Amino acid sequence: MRYGFISDIHGNLEALTAVLDDLRDRKIDEIVCLGDIVGYGPDPNACVALVQENARYTVLGNHDSAVIGKTTLQYFNPYARRAIEWTREVLNADAYTYLSSLPLKIIVDDMTLVHSTPDHPEEWDYLFDTQDAIKKFEYFRTQLCFIGHTHRPLAFFHENERYWPVEDQILLIQPNMRCIINVGSVGQPRDGDARACYGIYDENKREFQYIRVPYEIEKTQEKMRKANLPDYLIRRLFVGR
Ligand code: ZN
Repeated sequence: MRYGFISDIHGNLEALTAVLDDLRDRKIDEIVCLGDIVGYGPDPNACVALVQENARYTVLGNHDSAVIGKTTLQYFNPYARRAIEWTREVLNADAYTYLSSLPLKIIVDDMTLVHSTPDHPEEWDYLFDTQDAIKKFEYFRTQLCFIGHTHRPLAFFHENERYWPVEDQILLIQPNMRCIINVGSVGQPRDGDARACYGIYDENKREFQYIRVPYEIEKTQEKMRKANLPDYLIRRLFVGR
């Protein structure tokens, strides 16, 4: 089985469409979405509809949660807050219903799926470095835990007493290892590469691979301008930060 992992789409329809086309070309069996379908970007309804149609498993992200009123806006910076308020105004009933149905955590086969961290996903902590990661391994029982949230493709490996970060494009997972894998962001990458980011996990080969896909950034930016979304959010798409 080969799984395609998408996360942090953030209402960016051009990025999501480019990634879904790429997944289709590669004949991926199942798509998993790790949350934050909406927030920041100009096409929340279309993105929710596409995820609902294409993803086999989807968990709730903090922006999704804020848009449906489950997480308070005080946790967000002014740009994010403005975009969440805008998203609330335009979100349709179907998208609202779908986001409201999403769980915080899913366990399937040997994979734990969460948006932020496996211990208390509803607290929306950020897992940036190995120090953060060490504490989290005891909170899931599966071999692998897939996350999003920081918008940075990066993995943490654990074997015996050792913990270490891995930034390779291809991750080879040995039977004795446990891994936390951040799949990066489709719609708002923050690792300095503006292209959409997603991942493929090949269960038989025990191999995870990061994929980058170019998309029409200007088109997304133009829609954001028309929607009067914050200029800072529009500009950052170009630099991938
Ligand atoms: Zn996000």
